[in-house]
Amino acid sequence: MENQFNNLYSVILDTYPMEGKQLTKIWKFFEYLKEGRLTTTKCIKCGKVSYPPRILCPECLSEELEWIDLPTKGTVEYFTELKAGVPVGFEKPLIHAYIKLSDSFDILSKIVGIKSIDDIHRGDKVKLKVFDVPPIPAEIGRDKISIDRVYFAFELDN
Ligand SMILES: [Zn+2]
Repeated sequence: MENQFNNLYSVILDTYPMEGKQLTKIWKFFEYLKEGRLTTTKCIKCGKVSYPPRILCPECLSEELEWIDLPTKGTVEYFTELKAGVPVGFEKPLIHAYIKLSDSFDILSKIVGIKSIDDIHRGDKVKLKVFDVPPIPAEIGRDKISIDRVYFAFELDN
């Protein structure tokens, strides 16, 4: 993603999650994303699959969770364009879609790589697109660190 503000406003307006072992307990999600894998957590005790990934099972409160891979390709079910109030730093068109990844799993994601909402349709095939996010400075104790970040969207799979 282009960062048109040269990080001037990143600390205040940054809407991407903190990443890195030191900052989040779901840091593996982002490490796997860097490998092109979309993952989440599954409870070892009761089998509940949660998304976004959790550190505690919302069903049985177990902390015994394992990471599982989700499909990286899916089908567009519904989509919408945010026309008013597009947040600073986001490019237009800002389109989000519900994507069916499997019979039991849908995900809400930003759609990138299209010029207009007319370019997307119900039933379109889409695939995972991982992109770099500007690093955000963080203070861990006395250390100032900068952590490389990634995030994901989906794009048309032509
Ligand atoms: Zn559970």
